[in-house]
Amino acid sequence: MDNTSIARPDNDFIQDVAALGGEDLKKCYQCAACTSVCSLSTEQNGFPRKQMLMAQWGMKDKLLEDPSPWLCYYCGDCSKVCPRKANPGETMMALRRYAISRYDVTGLARLMYRSAIGNILVFLVFSSLFTLLLLSQHGGMQMGSNGAIFSGLGSTYLFHYIPGEWIHKIGIAAFAMIGASLAFGVLSMAYRMMNSKGHTGERLAFPIAALLPAIWFAVMEVINHHRFRQCEKHEGSVYLRPWLVHGAIMWGFLAMLVATALDYFIKPIGSAVPPWYPMRILGTLGGLVCLYGLSVVITERIRAEDTPYDKSSFSDWFFLLLLTATVLTGLLTEIIVYMPHPTVFGYMIFLSHIVLAMDVLIMLPLTKFSHVVYRTVALALYQWGRVPAPQTVTAASGDA
Ligand code: SF4
Ligand code: SF4
Repeated sequence: MDNTSIARPDNDFIQDVAALGGEDLKKCYQCAACTSVCSLSTEQNGFPRKQMLMAQWGMKDKLLEDPSPWLCYYCGDCSKVCPRKANPGETMMALRRYAISRYDVTGLARLMYRSAIGNILVFLVFSSLFTLLLLSQHGGMQMGSNGAIFSGLGSTYLFHYIPGEWIHKIGIAAFAMIGASLAFGVLSMAYRMMNSKGHTGERLAFPIAALLPAIWFAVMEVINHHRFRQCEKHEGSVYLRPWLVHGAIMWGFLAMLVATALDYFIKPIGSAVPPWYPMRILGTLGGLVCLYGLSVVITERIRAEDTPYDKSSFSDWFFLLLLTATVLTGLLTEIIVYMPHPTVFGYMIFLSHIVLAMDVLIMLPLTKFSHVVYRTVALALYQWGRVPAPQTVTAASGDA
């Protein structure tokens, strides 16, 4: 069965990977310099050289069932040492883009990754939809300085403009949609990986007793970026190291998400709280930390001098700018609620923030953001299926 994919390279797959950023793939001549520097490489899995070979041969199914590309954080060390400029780090990224587009049932991810116009169109359609939905319930702007509804601190007047309950309902619907979409993608990935043969060629065992430790390992790995920190080439300023910058974006965003959720459950919507209210501090700090990470990545991508920032696709820029605009409008909204009088500018920033935040959520399964889900699942499956299944061990006992 596996020989089918070896005998007949999937040329469409090779072209897709090239179009998604792996256009230098064919330059690879298998010298293994990349494998010698990659901290993820093992004796049995000469990563990423082995995956470069599989990609050159169009072994789509083998690559989709291999968790290795998901373990890569794109530190760029392999691309730096590659004598052929085959850019293995970017090719691993292209393989992840390909996997995301395969797991997305709507076809939108493929459209977004393949075409800048398609990417913008999807964004505009979602943004217009959310704007119309939100404005369909708006209660009008409360302008002036003597309205009781917006007297004192707080954002009551903003939630009069767009009712908080309405925002909540749209948010729940969006969460349900992304939940279903991600569940399908994750199950597709898990099915492939759990039915594959490992790098030893043996079917893997997934003992129930090892599931929880594997999940714990994956979650801890994603939170503390342990493997990412092992990348050795980044000797420069600590605060510019890719693992820290990547972590800042992720931790900052999670802090904002937690603050928003707790805010909703703990206090009445739009009620006045002082700037030192814990949820407000958490949200503001999260926003600033996330903004720090985003500004470093944007600066590095503009400079484009060093891997992993020297090559940026439209989808990379789109995700960065969408997240930056969301964080900036969120921080501005936090300032606006403490202004003495409502302004049209304040209402527009508030509306923009809600629409952008909903865009980020609804497009989570389609953008780079989905890495946080797929990578966590791949890490858990990788850790869970570490040993060959018992029956396979017996059958293959004559092998090395
Ligand atoms: S990607 Fe580059 S470093 Fe890695 S095996 Fe190919 S040619 Fe060598
Ligand atoms: S980018 Fe870093 S982690 Fe990924 S394959 Fe290259 S060296 Fe390994």
